[in-house]
Amino acid sequence: MTMIDFDFWDSVKGFMAKDEAERLYQLALEASGRGPVLEIGSYCGKSAYIIGTACQQNGSVLYSIDHHSGSEEQQKGAEYFDPDLFDPLLQRVNTLPFFLQTLDRALLEDTVVPIVAASQIAGKCWATPVSMVFIDGGHSFDDAYSDFSTWSPHLMADGFLVIHDIFFDPAQGGQAPRQVYEKAVQTGNYKELAMTHTLGVLQKK
Ligand code: MG
Repeated sequence: MTMIDFDFWDSVKGFMAKDEAERLYQLALEASGRGPVLEIGSYCGKSAYIIGTACQQNGSVLYSIDHHSGSEEQQKGAEYFDPDLFDPLLQRVNTLPFFLQTLDRALLEDTVVPIVAASQIAGKCWATPVSMVFIDGGHSFDDAYSDFSTWSPHLMADGFLVIHDIFFDPAQGGQAPRQVYEKAVQTGNYKELAMTHTLGVLQKK
């Protein structure tokens, strides 16, 4: 983990445990040697820093997709609203400046390609195979399932499908990511690898 500065990582807004970040880094290091990596849900760049650092080591690229207007639970009045992220010019949540600042501070502008769009729109005409897909966008079932159905067809054989925020106990968190994980397993197209905390890891057959 020598390439990751966890003090810097701690300073970036976001929601991820350290053991999950370490696993994500190892997966991205392996995957990015075979092709580009793609993530859905950039937010302020907490995971892009981890994945992007691994991609940079391999001379690969991370496509990081987010509409940057925050998910449902991050809107004004909702549970995860952060007033720092409210943009007075746009009169809405706007995480893009924070994301760009993270890339700038981490010197990852040569590696991370920000895509500012809803995931389904970004995927409409997509044709590039990717070595890993990290799903960490909207946490409603419709959002998470549409991220899976939009991007999983672009995953290379042996590529990793990684899903964040999988909770087996509904008291711990929303169930949509777990439901999508189970739907992916049911296709028979993936091998289940060990989970790390709430990070589910599948490998395409
Ligand atoms: Mg997450």
